[in-house]
Amino acid sequence: MAEEKILKINNLKKYFSLGKNRMLKAVDDVTFHINKGETFGLVGESGCGKSTIGRTIMGLYQKTAGNVLFSNNNVHELTDKELFILQRQMQMIFQDPYASLNPRSTVREIISEPMEVHQLYKRKKEQNEKVYQLLEEVGLNREHANRYPHEFSGGQRQRIGIARALALDPDFIIADEPISALDVSVQAQVVNLLKELQEEKGLTFLFIAHDLSMVKQISDRIGVMYLGRLVELTSSETLYEQPLHPYTQALLSAIPIPDPDVEASRERIILQGELPSPVNPPSGCVFRTRCPFAMEICGKEKPEWKEAGDNHFVACHLFHDEVKNEKAKMPTVNIK
Ligand code: SF4
Repeated sequence: MAEEKILKINNLKKYFSLGKNRMLKAVDDVTFHINKGETFGLVGESGCGKSTIGRTIMGLYQKTAGNVLFSNNNVHELTDKELFILQRQMQMIFQDPYASLNPRSTVREIISEPMEVHQLYKRKKEQNEKVYQLLEEVGLNREHANRYPHEFSGGQRQRIGIARALALDPDFIIADEPISALDVSVQAQVVNLLKELQEEKGLTFLFIAHDLSMVKQISDRIGVMYLGRLVELTSSETLYEQPLHPYTQALLSAIPIPDPDVEASRERIILQGELPSPVNPPSGCVFRTRCPFAMEICGKEKPEWKEAGDNHFVACHLFHDEVKNEKAKMPTVNIK
């Protein structure tokens, strides 16, 4: 049976005008879908456009071109009222649990706020019961409801943020760098909590992160972004076993392996230079200024988005028929 696509993003562009005909191309022609019940990881360096995609999906940013279909609703063609109703089904968890919780509100007020905005409960008692239920679901307890955010650790605050995101019983959650601000020891706990909640509630996640190691643990499929564009997309296993795009290979080679023998024998791909400006991206392939395998064609033509294997998509000239011979020259890099 075909999988149900809960979210479809088609040729999405989001440009920000900087005046004087200057455009910041934060998201440039991105296409992917997310199946109901899966976790789709979106990774890349800061400033690559992944958070902009999250906010554009939510309708918080207008699109420049393309479209976003959530449960077959064209998000950017809805009226404000229709979008407000649809947003009940899509919620966000933010990166910084310190900044995203109002320090002057109690945990009860923070978690109740979306229920009040959407007038979910007529009686306060029912609303309070829902707050207690949510607190328990995220590993806190009802006694925490009357406390303030500063009384909690970073991990607990992120649990409060997760409880708030669940308050409207959404189908789809965009988790925007939800563990980046947390200690490494706490990151795994939050990832495990998200996995448990997904199983219990049948949630669908878009998990945005710059750390490929954590994304692997939670994602079914992963899309890799560079400078506003998707450069590779496949299942989590395939991406780690057979990364094709040189940028993905570089990201994976930077993940330390906790085995000193393997770590000593593996090669690292060190990216040269800085991430170019999205205001003035390189011609052709946007990765060419840092790519160790760049060829003449890479500066002239934008590589097409092609299926290079079973459900394995990549945008790189190395995988185009006409330059397959060049591919043979691509050094094999031992990154495992
Ligand atoms: Fe490197 Fe060229 Fe492939 Fe871009 S298209 S990743 S520059 S080989």
